[in-house]
Amino acid sequence: MADASRFRPADFTAHLFDLDGVITPTAEVHMRAWARMFDGFLSSWEDQAPYTDADYFAHVDGRPRYDGVRAFLASRGITLAEGTDSDPGDQPVGEETVRGLGNRKNDLVLALIRAEGVTPYPGTVAYLEALPAGARPAIVSSSRNAEEVLRGAGLLERFEHIVDGNVAAREGLPGKPSPDTFLHAAALLGVPAERAVVYEDAVSGVRAGAAGGFGAVVGVDRGAGEAELAAAGATLVVSDLEEIA
Ligand SMILES: [Mg+2]
Repeated sequence: MADASRFRPADFTAHLFDLDGVITPTAEVHMRAWARMFDGFLSSWEDQAPYTDADYFAHVDGRPRYDGVRAFLASRGITLAEGTDSDPGDQPVGEETVRGLGNRKNDLVLALIRAEGVTPYPGTVAYLEALPAGARPAIVSSSRNAEEVLRGAGLLERFEHIVDGNVAAREGLPGKPSPDTFLHAAALLGVPAERAVVYEDAVSGVRAGAAGGFGAVVGVDRGAGEAELAAAGATLVVSDLEEIA
């Protein structure tokens, strides 16, 4: 299953890439933005221990934005009004909502990306450059900031379609581990699933690829674990896409 030698990019027409963790190392930026947001929020609460990385992994990591806010607050016994998607990130102390805090975290992510830029994984860039003529790459990401991240990485023009969290919300598509967002991208390209390959670093994303009946699912192990990605249905697992370029 981890036999990279038999995988040939030319066997596939559509190449469906996850973003965070496959194209760019942006998971770390999200982690820092969460910490800044919760540190600031908790500073106005007495008797609350500081926010830690353990809070991140226990309550926030991998969850959609507002779900992460809600889960962390619940773990601290804090109840806030849910608010709305359009609540501003700069709500005053005492008037914060769950969605306002989620939007504050998103504002911080975008500010970090703008200030620091995004450097894509060199092996992924090499892989994209080595794709055969006629290959049709697309992005399939849960993030609502996919365009911003890709622009920052200088890769926005490389992809024919971007199926991100905004598209999923608009089209009513369930997120990963459901295969719907990947299947939507293949449909936009007009390529049947068996002629498409999925590239994913997350167990939930690999599951989505396996459930969609795609020609191959390449697990990119950035820390999830080779055995875990294989068990989730990866056709092969690499530590970097350069291995199969
Ligand atoms: Mg990912």
